[in-house]
Amino acid sequence: MSSDQPGSNLPSFEEAAALVAAHAAKLARIRLAMERVVLGQALGRVLGRPLRADDDQPAFARSTRDGFACRAAEASAYAQLAIAGTTRAGQTPSGPLPRGAAWEIMTGAPVPRGADAVAMLEHVEAAGGRIRLLPSRTLKSGDNIVARGAHARKGNELLAPGSIVGPAQVALAATCGFAAMDVYVRPRVAILATGDELVAIKSAPGPGQIRNSNAPMLAAMVKAAGGVPWVLPIVRDTNEALNAAISKAAEADLLLITGGVSAGKFDLVEPALLRAGARFHFTGVLIQPGKPAVFGERPAKKTPAGKGRRTQYFLGLPGNPVSSAVTFLLFASPVLAALAGRTEFGPRFALARLSADVTAKPGLTRFLPAACSFAGPLPEVQLVSWQGSGDIAAMARANCFMVVPDEPKRAQKTHLKAGAIVRILLP
Ligand code: AMP
Ligand code: MG
Repeated sequence: MSSDQPGSNLPSFEEAAALVAAHAAKLARIRLAMERVVLGQALGRVLGRPLRADDDQPAFARSTRDGFACRAAEASAYAQLAIAGTTRAGQTPSGPLPRGAAWEIMTGAPVPRGADAVAMLEHVEAAGGRIRLLPSRTLKSGDNIVARGAHARKGNELLAPGSIVGPAQVALAATCGFAAMDVYVRPRVAILATGDELVAIKSAPGPGQIRNSNAPMLAAMVKAAGGVPWVLPIVRDTNEALNAAISKAAEADLLLITGGVSAGKFDLVEPALLRAGARFHFTGVLIQPGKPAVFGERPAKKTPAGKGRRTQYFLGLPGNPVSSAVTFLLFASPVLAALAGRTEFGPRFALARLSADVTAKPGLTRFLPAACSFAGPLPEVQLVSWQGSGDIAAMARANCFMVVPDEPKRAQKTHLKAGAIVRILLP
């Protein structure tokens, strides 16, 4: 079904990515099921309901410094202000600030009524129960005070549904008094590795056999993208085995199949998907690695995560590990992000400066294993040497994939010069 012939009408990378993005956007309109998780379990989950401020943030005018609360207009190097009281964090001021006075205050403590600024401890001279500003210092109304409600007003939406919960979002929920969060049920992603040559990790491969590395790799990628991996047993290259496995996998929210999508005699995945009622959106893309990648949908079963969904999307990823990884990032992760309820779908690209020349033949957009250093002022990227898309060791030395765009005229080679700014695909 995929055609490797030059001039075949395979979509470009941009066309394929746009197709995937359009389907992801369609999926994102379907309401997702939710569940409640305690804060300690919320990391990486996707918020299902808006998070609203339970009160004004902060709920009282607060000093951001150790020092003296006062009226800014009264503070100068020439006027002594009598210290009228003291407030520590956790206390409330015993009274309002009298005229012509200052109030000793600690970071985090409520500011007494009447004060409109806090002079930092280091900026005043204190003696005999009085203070004055050091001559080099000035004080403006509002200095070193966070007004009540400055961060948010009670009831304000602080996080929208679709936000990914990271440490900062956990802090926000905690400060608003939420010990648990309503998050979307994670989509379950079936992972089918196909191939007669595959054996399980714990097995010693016989002659011509290899360990199934794609299934655990994809399981890790699915987890990182917010899904729950469901790794099915290795599928042999027979129609019967494929029929059975694809039928079983109908209970998943998304189906990933690796191997068996090229043009070889035992590449039986596309016909098997067709028998299962598949519609294909593309059967190959002008990229390297990953050219035989397949994307489509087929009738779905109801799942706990998505009751309103009628179709199950699937991706057929080429079996070579680097191809599988690249095509997952490019085409599976946006669909998975939409199924997970995220509002940003990816793939994620960044810019980096190339540290050595790169040349590539035209006709394909390339995503080559590369090492990017983020230590300097600008990210610096270079290719890692690799022996083709089966080279897992090279991929493990890389931390991104460098995008080598296709030459639009298709006549010459693509040349990227050292120092040029290039795109990198992030994991
Ligand atoms: P295929 O896409 O089935 O033609 O496989 C392409 C190459 O990837 C072959 O060398 C396979 O042995 C290899 N391969 C296929 N599936 C896996 C897998 N699950 N883990 C590691 N390598 C694989
Ligand atoms: Mg195969």
